[in-house]
Amino acid sequence: MIVTKSPAELDAMAESGDLLVRVHELITSMVGPGVTPLELDRAAEEMIRSEGAVPSFKGFHGYPASLCISPNDMVVHGIPDKRAFVEGDIVSIDCGVTLGGWVADAAVTHLIGEVSDEARHLSDKTLESLLAAVPQCVPGNRIGDIGHAVQTVVEDAGLTIVTSLVGHGVGRSMHEDPQVPNYGKPGRGARLTAGMVLAIEPMVTTGEADVYTGDDNWAISTVDGSLAAHQEFTIAITADGPRVLTPWHESVKTP
Ligand code: MG
Ligand code: MG
Repeated sequence: MIVTKSPAELDAMAESGDLLVRVHELITSMVGPGVTPLELDRAAEEMIRSEGAVPSFKGFHGYPASLCISPNDMVVHGIPDKRAFVEGDIVSIDCGVTLGGWVADAAVTHLIGEVSDEARHLSDKTLESLLAAVPQCVPGNRIGDIGHAVQTVVEDAGLTIVTSLVGHGVGRSMHEDPQVPNYGKPGRGARLTAGMVLAIEPMVTTGEADVYTGDDNWAISTVDGSLAAHQEFTIAITADGPRVLTPWHESVKTP
């Protein structure tokens, strides 16, 4: 069942989104060679709680942290650990915050120091595919229009969508209907209506689409060891057009 939100509820979700953008700004100010995922996780949790919010991921199906930090061939759901980032890493950092009962969900891919052209291309095109989805988020369009926009950018760039992982509706719960695949056909799938809120999150690799779950039962990585990127917005469909509730791309400068 798709739960639509009233304009007042969207304003409340935007406050959650605003906090989440500020968390990503904090992460971006800290991330670099020698920094550990655990340090970022602690800082993010402290900021979220200091604002009277809750880290949405922590405890979700038993997940132990506030951030998912997924380096290199890891696509999503990396549990923060003590292994410091090194120059050349490409690291996707996902965070959810719950403020006033409303969840916002957003991920940013970071490039650590000087990286390969391949890593930069992957990061740039994954963000471009996310931005291409935004104008599709209008009443009357369909879920397939969003997926088609993402898929077109990714495949034109010679990259690959991880089709087994999808975006989702978001609201009082982190995962609501509908599913939002990063591929699709224009004019197909559920119709978009004002008040729907979606987490759109392209997950893209430089190689094949196949992924596997690691021994910790969380981390999902590419089978072929190719690099992965993951960038995500929480976005509302409104009568006035798309409303990005987590517009981190306006203030977070990934190198
Ligand atoms: Mg997320
Ligand atoms: Mg999500």
